[in-house]
Amino acid sequence: MDRRLVLASGNAGKLVELRELLADAGYALHAQSEFGVHDIDETGLTFVENALLKARHAAQATGLPALGDDSGLCVDALGGAPGLYSARYAGGHGDAQANIAKLLDALREVPDNARTAHFHAVVVLLRTPDDPQPIIAEGRWPGRILHAPRGNGGFGYDPVFLDMQLNRSAAELDAATKHARSHRGLALAALRERLHEL
Ligand code: IMP
Repeated sequence: MDRRLVLASGNAGKLVELRELLADAGYALHAQSEFGVHDIDETGLTFVENALLKARHAAQATGLPALGDDSGLCVDALGGAPGLYSARYAGGHGDAQANIAKLLDALREVPDNARTAHFHAVVVLLRTPDDPQPIIAEGRWPGRILHAPRGNGGFGYDPVFLDMQLNRSAAELDAATKHARSHRGLALAALRERLHEL
């Protein structure tokens, strides 16, 4: 029988993605909402802290091992911003168009070669709320910020993030290609390698 894990996120897209990944490893992933658990404030100062806060909250509330994640876009010319605050860069949570407009405006005078950036993702697995040795896996996707959006796929900052090797924006990639190259895909692959530690 599959072992049960709870996902510390209300994001349906993440649940689908992660569920597929964990199913053939023998784990059944449940949304925290199935247990009446809500998102908490992301008050950490690092991606790792936020992923841990989310996972600890879900583990505490459900009594199950919990998976938490956090991610964001870090732009070199902006000292790493929007970083932890990627979802709420332009104010309201998750307004991708407003976030992109603010980012392009902040980089208006910045030439191509100085528009380097990367996406960063952390996934954390806690066996119990007070697990002193969480499994932590990270992934990084390097690229460059375009001057205008390109492509219709993906979400968030995808239309303005250029994968320089493929010469495609993240919004121009099919899901499998994005998953193979992206920060979240790489973090999940690394986590999968360590699932036996559970
Ligand atoms: P969170 O990990 O759900 O807190 O998301 C952080 C934010 O980072 C998202 O709302 C997006 O704005 C941005 N982000 C994270 N991963 C991606 C991605 O793969 N493509 C585009 N934007 C992303």
